[in-house]
Amino acid sequence: MATLGNPQNTIEILKKYDFMFQKRFGQNFLIDTHVLEKIIKSAEITKDDMVLEIGPGIGTMTQYLCENAREVIAVEIDKNLIPILENDTLAEYDNVTVINEDVLKLDLNALVKERNKGSRIKVVANLPYYITTPIIMGLFESHVPLQSITVMVQKEVADRMQAGPGSKDYGALSLAVQYYARPYIAANVPPNCFMPRPNVGSAVIRLTLHEEPPVQVKDEAFLFALVRASFNQRRKTLVNGLTNAAELKLSKEAVQEVLEQMGLPATVRGEALTLEQFAELANRLGK
Ligand code: SAM
Repeated sequence: MATLGNPQNTIEILKKYDFMFQKRFGQNFLIDTHVLEKIIKSAEITKDDMVLEIGPGIGTMTQYLCENAREVIAVEIDKNLIPILENDTLAEYDNVTVINEDVLKLDLNALVKERNKGSRIKVVANLPYYITTPIIMGLFESHVPLQSITVMVQKEVADRMQAGPGSKDYGALSLAVQYYARPYIAANVPPNCFMPRPNVGSAVIRLTLHEEPPVQVKDEAFLFALVRASFNQRRKTLVNGLTNAAELKLSKEAVQEVLEQMGLPATVRGEALTLEQFAELANRLGK
């Protein structure tokens, strides 16, 4: 099969089916074979793997996944793409299942249980950027059995996922991602690798799931509530950020006392704390 990574082949398919791009679905199809190869290589796909692809589009990356993985499940929301995938671009592969659904509404735990006997899968995708965070956090928080997530995201989002304390990109997303996984930016990808071109730069990031969480907390929900409150008001001190968040019901005195026990100055800001320090803060402040 001629690769769709070649723009001429993509244009041909789009014309053949009179396909109209839907902006609301974040449709930017990859048209660069080097980038496709880089994604497959970064995801370390083998013939043992079951891969979930979110948003196959016309099947450009799906073809590579079918060649390299044992089995592929491709979830696509746009019903106009289904005949292209089933009758044309993926017709020659017998190791792929296309599901016409909104990935955010799908019970992925049930799917993995049924299709992979609950064993860990790999997620690979050129994500629709309008729902990057809900997709990734949804995968983590619903504890879908995962080995890794290798995805194309907006460059700025990849930087935020990978950032550490002291960086301007460090925030609630960095901590949430790093609690569950180890991030690694595998490539930066310019707009001309897509059709149509997005308005932003992109990056391929691999998130390798931790076997064990890197920190021990008594109450995960409380840890993330603290993190969110700390970064809600970035310019405020941690004491003010936490005590202004009414739902946390924390007194100034209690927060100041814990900061002192941890050897942190009363004026410290959330952006200076590591994941380990946030975990200690949560364990000390928790009921
Ligand atoms: N994988 C293709 C490629 O690389 O050329 C297409 C990537 S495009 C950036 C994102 C794809 O996700 C589109 O095909 C879009 O229709 C699909 N999509 C958008 N929202 C979705 C959702 N909620 N569930 C499943 N697929 C979705």
